[in-house]
Formats: sequence, C-alpha cells, structure tokens
Amino acid sequence: MPEGLLDVQGLGIRFGGLDAVKDVDATIPAGQITAIIGPNGAGKSTFFNLISGFYVPTAGAIRFAGEDITRLKTHQVVSRGIARTFQTTTIYKELSVLDGVMIGHRVRTKAGLFDALLRTGREKHDEAESRAGAMRALERVGLTSQAGRLAGALTQEGQKRVGIAMALCSDPRLLLLDEPAAGMNPEETTNLMGLIRELVGGGLTIALVEHKMSLVMGLADRILVLHHGQKIAQGTPTEVSRDPAVIEAYLGSHAHGGQMGQGEQASTTTGADHA
Ligand code: ADP
Ligand code: MG
Repeated sequence: MPEGLLDVQGLGIRFGGLDAVKDVDATIPAGQITAIIGPNGAGKSTFFNLISGFYVPTAGAIRFAGEDITRLKTHQVVSRGIARTFQTTTIYKELSVLDGVMIGHRVRTKAGLFDALLRTGREKHDEAESRAGAMRALERVGLTSQAGRLAGALTQEGQKRVGIAMALCSDPRLLLLDEPAAGMNPEETTNLMGLIRELVGGGLTIALVEHKMSLVMGLADRILVLHHGQKIAQGTPTEVSRDPAVIEAYLGSHAHGGQMGQGEQASTTTGADHA
C-alpha cells in the first residue's frame, strides 16, 4: 500500500455515553480513492468531522502529510490542504454559481462567519484572486459555462458539482466527500463517478462516504468499514466484500448468503441519517 497522506491512530470521540468513533486506525493513501462505508449511525460523518477539525477527538491522533493536525481548527486544517463537502450541501440558490462558490468558500474557510461577511480590506483586495480561484474550481468540475446562471436553476447533479467546486477553491490535496451521490439518479451517479476519477487523475486524493454500493465498488481503490464507531475491515473492494464481519454488519440476521454490492443501497433502514 502507498504511504498514507492521512493517517489516524486510535481515533475516538465520545458524545455523552456514546462512542461515535472508537479506536480507529486507518490510512488514506495519496492519489487514491478511499471509501468509508458502514450502516447508518456507524460514525462515518463523525469520522469526517474529526479529520476536518469540526470535532476535537477525545482520543487518538491525526497526521496529515507528516504533520500532527489532531487539535487544529477547521480553517487551519483547510489551510493544510484538506477540504470537504457536506452530506447536505447548502448552496446559494439565489446567487450566480460563481458568486455562490466564492461566498461559500469564504464562509467555510475563515476563522469565523463575521470575517467572511464583513470582509476585511485585504479580502477586498484579494477579490480578483478569489474570483479567479472560483473560476478555476468551476472549470475542474465542468461548470465553466454555467458560472453566470442562478445556482438554484442547476440540476441536482449540477448543484453537487457546485458543492465540490466550493471545496476545491482552497486547492486541497485531500478532498472529503460525504454522500456525494445522495439524491442522484443512476445517470447522474455515473457522471459524478467520472468527475471523481478525473479529479484523482489530476493528482487529488479523495475519501468519500457513500451508501450506493455500485458507486463504492466501481470507484474505490480501498474501503474502510465502520460499524458502531469501530473499524471492522479495511482493504480492497474485493477483500472487504468477502469479509464475514462486513457481511454480518450489513445483512445481520437477514443474511441469506447475499453479497454486499448487489443492492443499490446498503442498510438504510435502521433510522434517519444524521447530517
Ligand atoms: P453515519 O454518518 O455513519 O450515519 P454519524 O457519524 O452521523 O453516522 O453518527 C454516529 C453516531 O454519533 C450516531 O449515533 C449519532 O447520533 C452520534 N452523533 C454524531 N454527532 C453527534 C453530536 N454532535 N452529538 C451527539 N451525538 C452525535
Ligand atoms: Mg453520515
């Protein structure tokens, strides 16, 4: 396995009495696509929240490109080269695609919302640069021709691409995508897979959380499986889909010898998803 761009060791966070993520050792290799899967409530989004500095871990360490980033704040993590999209991406539907990407990027990367909204003199000075950065990001997601359109007028797929463009504005080395294909039809899902492959082909490292097994199996170089906050498997799609602990976690007592990957959805019946 290539050297990890990101490595976590003994990573954990407790909410009240609940170990949302517990004692996870994992590696995200550079230049690859790593999928994080697991039943609802397994801790996937929390894992991303820990890596991206939204949550401070109660145990363990996170190293990125050789640096300990365990206790860094979100904007510091972004500046080191990690960006993310959210399970439910809020885009600015009433703004142009370009303005929305610029503002979205600013709101997510500054130390506080006020910094983003008040906009210091320096930021005004940087406006042209910021606009150019947003245009570059739109080009990477194939939205150059849509830059002047209202974001809300775009298709579901187009809006997802806007969310990814926002994340790309900070020029990350590692991009975290939380359920990028949620709400998409099969054709849109295929298009999105193409975009993810293109981005990785251009040198980006991607980790994604996804329920759609066809996407995960067709795209991921490596898969990390979480269950009740703990890692139960990590390996290639083939290794993971044959792992008895994984099959048990997904199918539980309903197992009839089925293989993970046959259904479009893994278990999504165990409760509402968490943003
Ligand atoms: P997944 O993304 O795998 O569906 P999550 O990471 O969203 O799961 O959630 C894992 C568990 O942690 C769930 O039981 C969830 O309720 C809990 N959890 C997540 N974030 C918080 C929080 N901020 N406060 C309390 N509990 C949380
Ligand atoms: Mg989630």
